Amino acid sequence: AAKDRGLGLIEVFDDAASSRSLDRLGLRSDLLGALEGDQFAVHYQPICDLGSGQVVAFEALLRWTHPQRGPVPPDVFIPLAEETGAIVPIGHWVLEQSCRELARWGAMGAKRIRVNVNLSPVQLQQPHLARELLDIVQRSGVDPGDVCLEVTEHSYLREDVTESAAVLRTAGLHFALDDFGTSYSSLNYLKWFPIDLLKVDQSFVGGVAASDTDRGIVRAVLAIADSLRLGVVAEGVETEEQRAALLALGCPLGQGNLLSPPLTPDAAAELLAGDRHSLAAS
Ligand code: C2E
Ligand code: MG
Ligand code: MG
Ligand code: MG
Repeated sequence: AAKDRGLGLIEVFDDAASSRSLDRLGLRSDLLGALEGDQFAVHYQPICDLGSGQVVAFEALLRWTHPQRGPVPPDVFIPLAEETGAIVPIGHWVLEQSCRELARWGAMGAKRIRVNVNLSPVQLQQPHLARELLDIVQRSGVDPGDVCLEVTEHSYLREDVTESAAVLRTAGLHFALDDFGTSYSSLNYLKWFPIDLLKVDQSFVGGVAASDTDRGIVRAVLAIADSLRLGVVAEGVETEEQRAALLALGCPLGQGNLLSPPLTPDAAAELLAGDRHSLAAS
């Protein structure tokens, strides 16, 4: 909503207003029992080479099926989980599941890929975050270098936050800056956070074929990535025109419904196992 219009300040008010009304519906308290109630699932969306269609990674995306209401979108329940702090155990669980799937893909003999896991700003503020996340990764037996944590630009960059990020980076994990370009602190993040990968927000990708402004912004993001030696992923690639425009600009990787929607764990494993590594190759 407000986010799509790129108005960060308005987004704050929108979120507060909508979470107040949802709280009245009891969603917030239902969320507290959802983990133990086995109501969550993690789906995996391929991140692909835009030219060949080869899968290079999967992004883990949390799904909540409410026992009475059915599926609740993450944009609705993640903010509620952040307000209550439930995002901390939930986020640990998502990482655990994601590492388990990554280990399973490896055991299948699939080619080596990465898994990207979203990390909430609230998680980043936890004092023992680095130790806890490293425990999860190490217990799973996967290579920490195959795990990428996606952070957003919303959180304040305090010293302790950048310290736990540095610990995780030193242990081999990678960091992606999600929804890049939609917040005011993007460049500051690049300066203080050990980022490896930029994810170009879908609001710019949406117009990359049709709007000179969006194309100019994507070109600028690619130039930043190039000069800082960062990888780039275009988010929300929905059409062939967008893919062609991104390739013409030199954007190597993309994620979006044109390539594949988020998949169940079994469908993701099947995709890797079969001879279908290439999605919608051009
Ligand atoms: P995100 O991390 O930017 O994830 C990308 C979102 O774009 C996902 O929405 C994905 O389903 C959606 N998407 C992918 N391809 C397309 C496309 O071609 N067109 C359009 N319109 N959308 C596309 P989703 O799964 O609804 O998640 C929304 C947000 O919720 C995520 O945005 C992320 O910020 C948050 N989220 C999801 N799972 C987790 C999680 O495990 N932990 C945390 N902290 N946040 C999560
Ligand atoms: Mg993400
Ligand atoms: Mg994003
Ligand atoms: Mg997002």
